[in-house]
Amino acid sequence: MNAVRREKGYKKLDLSSLEDNLQLPYEIRNLKGTLEVEQWEFTKFDVIVDGSVDVKVPCDRCGEMFWQHVELENEEIFIIGREPVPTGEEKKLSEEDISTFYTPNGQVNVIELLSEYILSGLPTKLICRDECPGPVKLLDELGFVELILDEGGK
Ligand SMILES: [Zn+2]
Repeated sequence: MNAVRREKGYKKLDLSSLEDNLQLPYEIRNLKGTLEVEQWEFTKFDVIVDGSVDVKVPCDRCGEMFWQHVELENEEIFIIGREPVPTGEEKKLSEEDISTFYTPNGQVNVIELLSEYILSGLPTKLICRDECPGPVKLLDELGFVELILDEGGK
């Protein structure tokens, strides 16, 4: 009996082709690099993202919008099938388990995945530049708002 044997699959996508499809709360530009899908077993495949993007975000210090450069280096393993129900007897999760995901139908939403990578790639503290003057400008604006409020109260 001849078993049907699937060839190992490989696919490579240019990230720049996905730039317009991403759903992010921020504007982005210069999305560069590649997304590779490598099926190394019948029910297992890797998704590897290697690239970079610029994201327009507000500075945590002064509130001004600026372009934050984000490096994208992500690799995740997908298993085609349903996630086994935990029995409570699992050993400690290995490095591989942590980045392993299950996909019952073998489909991965590349747009969602990439959007997630970009958001999680942002630094926790967003500072527009090393010599950012801080909330000086913002305070000025607040002063202006106060002035209007005072006039209104007369
Ligand atoms: Zn700033």
